[in-house]
Amino acid sequence: MNKSSDLYDITIVGGGPTGLFAAFYAGMRELKTKIIEALPELGGQLSVLYPEKYIYDVPGFPKILSKELVKNLIEQAMTANPTLCLEERALTLRRREDGILELETTKGLHISRTVLIAAGVGAFSPNKLSIPDAEKFEGRGVFYFVREKALLKGKKILIVGGGDSAVDWALNLKDEAEKVTLVHRRDVFRAHESSVKQLFHAGIDIFLFWEVKELHGNERLEEALIFNNKTRETKVLPVDVVLINIGFKADPGPIRNWPVEFEGRHIKINGRMETSLPGVYAAGDIAHDPASVYFDLIVIGYAQAAVAVNCAANYINPKATLFPGHSSERSS
Ligand code: FAD
Repeated sequence: MNKSSDLYDITIVGGGPTGLFAAFYAGMRELKTKIIEALPELGGQLSVLYPEKYIYDVPGFPKILSKELVKNLIEQAMTANPTLCLEERALTLRRREDGILELETTKGLHISRTVLIAAGVGAFSPNKLSIPDAEKFEGRGVFYFVREKALLKGKKILIVGGGDSAVDWALNLKDEAEKVTLVHRRDVFRAHESSVKQLFHAGIDIFLFWEVKELHGNERLEEALIFNNKTRETKVLPVDVVLINIGFKADPGPIRNWPVEFEGRHIKINGRMETSLPGVYAAGDIAHDPASVYFDLIVIGYAQAAVAVNCAANYINPKATLFPGHSSERSS
């Protein structure tokens, strides 16, 4: 299927909690839905910044792990059968004379009747190692995400980082890999305390105050040269894979130039979540209604997503009711 040339009812920019809940709601309204997300995984800040933290203020969950909430949100969103465009960053937005919206991305052009901007604090991208070899071996041994765990079976894996992702992947891969080694440039971990405890009892080689200096290989990665940032001692480790988990940066980037009105870092919306450009809505952390107070909270994004999608359904078909009906009255 050519994802780009089909006309969609709603295209959601951002696959965080706001975008995911919006996709579910778009399904309730039987809208043909697409999600465009810069990262290869969904969940926004919850997946990237605090997957192992408990959240206590999501209605219906007295306490839920961030990554569990993302899992549930994805399951709920997928009932709408949205087209997922992952690892694709939206660059420009334009409204044609016929009212159709054109979104240009890093991978192509998308057309849609309406657009919901749920881009949070901006497009996330993984921090990279500041050595030229890392880029050279990207996709040929150097990775920032684990796409298929099975592909790492029997490999010698070097994990770089001290946050939740680095520690979780070290624990997760230790039984499948031939060997897992972790290097971290400090001795303080940002990961969950219990996971760090587990790490030190898991038979994983851990190098604290060590960093990657060079990567060697021909077609594929073969060795990593690491160095101790206190003593300057170096070591060569045989490796098949270097998994770099040293955090993410968010870049609001191109959206700042889109033809919608801004107020500071926020896109200005009204009570219907409409931006200044007809057919374009915004919700969640990126949006702000000057007539209202705003909080950067998941629950606010949910409510705004529901309002935005119902208003979009009514914009596409003015005869359609604004109120979606109760989900509890659906047959399944
Ligand atoms: P985000 O979660 O930021 O998701 C936006 C997504 O859009 C990202 O995945 C991004 O990659 C993508 N994107 C952006 N630009 C583009 C583009 N141009 N093209 C394609 N994709 C793009 N809130 C609570 O309610 N309770 C809590 O306990 C809580 N704890 C928190 C703890 C921490 C450490 C942090 C940092 C935040 C916490 N929050 C909490 C806030 C909450 O995470 C945010 O309010 C929520 O994530 C906003 O969701 P969103 O979908 O609007 O944006």
